[in-house]
Amino acid sequence: MNSYDSDRIAEILLLAGHIKTSLPEDADIVVINTCNVREKAQEKLFSDLGRIALIKAKAAEKGRSVIILVVGCVAQALGKEIFARADCVDIVLGPQAYQNIQKSIEEVISQKQCPEVKMQKNFIVDTTMSAEDKFKLLPRNRTLVKLPSAFISIQEGCDKFCTYCSVPYTRGREYSRPTSEIISEANQLVSSGAREIFLLGQNVSAYNGKYSSSAVCSFTELLFLISSIKGVERIRYTTSHPCDITTELMKAHKEISSLMPFIHLPAQSGSDIILKKMNRGYSRSQYIKIINEFRKILPNIAFSSDFIVGFPGETETDFEATCALVDEVSYAQAYSFKYSPRPQTPSSKWDQIDEQTKIRRLAVLQEIINKHQLHYNQSMEGKELLVLIEKEGRYENQVIGKTEYMQSVHLSAPKNFIGKVFPVKISRGFQNSLSGKLVG
Ligand code: SF4
Repeated sequence: MNSYDSDRIAEILLLAGHIKTSLPEDADIVVINTCNVREKAQEKLFSDLGRIALIKAKAAEKGRSVIILVVGCVAQALGKEIFARADCVDIVLGPQAYQNIQKSIEEVISQKQCPEVKMQKNFIVDTTMSAEDKFKLLPRNRTLVKLPSAFISIQEGCDKFCTYCSVPYTRGREYSRPTSEIISEANQLVSSGAREIFLLGQNVSAYNGKYSSSAVCSFTELLFLISSIKGVERIRYTTSHPCDITTELMKAHKEISSLMPFIHLPAQSGSDIILKKMNRGYSRSQYIKIINEFRKILPNIAFSSDFIVGFPGETETDFEATCALVDEVSYAQAYSFKYSPRPQTPSSKWDQIDEQTKIRRLAVLQEIINKHQLHYNQSMEGKELLVLIEKEGRYENQVIGKTEYMQSVHLSAPKNFIGKVFPVKISRGFQNSLSGKLVG
């Protein structure tokens, strides 16, 4: 989501006539897009700002003025507080206010040029939350597209209010973009060379965008519409919430050949007690039932997940239930994190688990996840898989692509194969990738 937002911010600035510098030292405007999901990401912002403040001071010595902007979820969560911690910052814009970035920059420039206000600093803060306005005002044409796999944000915000998560407070309530807007963006991306459309949202499976003045389009219907666009060879999506998975969506994975057989379905915990405390809205057995139903419809489907260890109140028994869930599902890959208390969230006020326990549990869980991932990757050895070649590799004649199951594959192929799908015979499965040879 942040990668998509960063591209859109850059598109606005390029359209306004700015150019990209390769070094921050050369920039007159520095934009930092931020994430608030874990404390570590927030702290990184302030260490980056310390470095950029020095660059700004050096530029000022030479008579050059640098404007610094903090955008995204930390901007939304901290607002004015950012100026108190880093007075080099000029503009703070929330994730649903960055469409106004050029206007804010112009305002700061005109303030700096005005002799009366030159000496006093006027900060700009915009943390308005209206995803609808944002998407209405963003440039229609996408000019910065990562090819051949292109992101489209289809939904933003979340109404689930998991007790550990800051998203409902920083991205706001759930908003689905109108279907026609998404289809037109997808058409445009395909004509720019995209072969894979990657649909993004905090909870895409809850998508219910306006199709017309009287009709609403469900997520499954949207998938069918996108699959009918000529040139779309692959469709992926993330993230889905287990509570919003429907039988129609499961069946769509069989019916739409371009819909990849890979789903990121965050479980977060394997313990019913913790799932309840997290306000996830499902039990362990309901989660397993969804996995099994998917597998009944499409036996080769692969799953990934997110897990949090050390959630307030998590006992050894709760933690073991999470490890057992990973063993039971046998994920193709999974992300795991230590619980990080986020301001505003209910669980940040509860009794916390000590750091050492979190570190130990994370190491144990990651070992189990890695074991399954390696086993899954090795199970591909000798198979012929369809691979979308995405980019050049580090070595000569080497390219890197993705299997349908989201695994990276290293192989030898000419550069002009990038952007196309080829059958590849897998020779080795490693921990994080595969190697193979083009077939034929
Ligand atoms: S469903 Fe996801 S985005 Fe929404 S509150 Fe829960 S963790 Fe956050």
